[in-house]
Amino acid sequence: MILVFIGSPGAGKGTQCEQLSRHLSIPHLSTGEILRKAKADGTPIGKKIAAVLDCGELVSDELITKIVDERTLNPDCKNGFLLDGFPRTIPQADLLGEMLSRRNQQLSGVVYLRVPREEVFERLTQRYKEMETPRPEDHPDAIPKRFEVFAKKTEPLLDYYIERELLHRVDGTGTPQNVFERVLNIVSMLGV
Ligand code: AMP
Repeated sequence: MILVFIGSPGAGKGTQCEQLSRHLSIPHLSTGEILRKAKADGTPIGKKIAAVLDCGELVSDELITKIVDERTLNPDCKNGFLLDGFPRTIPQADLLGEMLSRRNQQLSGVVYLRVPREEVFERLTQRYKEMETPRPEDHPDAIPKRFEVFAKKTEPLLDYYIERELLHRVDGTGTPQNVFERVLNIVSMLGV
């Protein structure tokens, strides 16, 4: 099972993937987490991408695809994996398609978590206030930029995956448990 989760910042991709990862016993790969860790560890990649990360812009398609390519070769991915935050652009989706076909694998589906703009804005503002070390990109000043990037670069992926008959819309409002039940319905429909 290889699933992609798409959703605007604050839509709950991380929360849902964590729960689903435990349920299916396959890893949850969050590209945002991988990049934040590289930055915190001060690796050469981390240093290079720190400023891009903080302002809510996207790192390059080549870099992020290389990271995903390498990470998914890890033996823990042999029964599948959940991609949270990747792909985020059409070139990344193309590169993911190429990577999977090279390995004779295919995407099981794409889950699009839909949450109204006002609600995600509220969630992100709350998260910024509550976290002990808030993420710089959750700062209220950075949020509009992230929405803009999502609308411009990531939303075109919805049509891309509709054309490939892979897109499943999930209502992302309500409690995390409500949303998880909806996600599970999709997953069981996909045959797991
Ligand atoms: P996230 O936690 O998924 O919101 O990601 C946090 C930040 O990491 C984003 O605002 C981007 O700067 C960067 N990032 C994560 N995934 C990608 C990706 N697939 N392509 C480019 N940049 C990414």
